[in-house]
Amino acid sequence: MTEDQLKPMIRRIGEYFGLDKAVLLTRFEQWYGRVKDIPAEALPYIETCIQDHHDSMPRNMPKYIRGYYYAWKSANTAKLIDYPRTTCAECHGHGLIWIKRTAMIEGKPWGNINGPITEETSYRCASCENWKRHCHADAKPAATRQYLADQGHDVLFNS
Ligand SMILES: [Zn+2]
Repeated sequence: MTEDQLKPMIRRIGEYFGLDKAVLLTRFEQWYGRVKDIPAEALPYIETCIQDHHDSMPRNMPKYIRGYYYAWKSANTAKLIDYPRTTCAECHGHGLIWIKRTAMIEGKPWGNINGPITEETSYRCASCENWKRHCHADAKPAATRQYLADQGHDVLFNS
């Protein structure tokens, strides 16, 4: 997830528990550092759990975000692994196609004096359904290698 995905969730949770003060930026950044590897698609579930299971805003928010993420993941893994892996020349059967691209912040390329900052991101393979073992259809856009190459991306090898 990105900071821009976590921030509104924290704000909504604060509002829900009647806190009108925003979380301090330094504290938010500490929280973000502990949960940034969690996929954004788990956030709606996590937000609902915090509202359902707590009587006030948790002081150690990352602990609960992570805990509810594990619950979400085990519930979803059970569904995802049902799909058999098929042979696919496009994604080598992996289901996801990875690219390296320039990271964007608020619509502008992100960089420093050493040049642009790059990030890796993945697309669902448009030629097979192996991606179903990794994510839901609305989690990532679908693409082919050729389409991504035509867009000027370096397509990375996948496992
Ligand atoms: Zn494929």
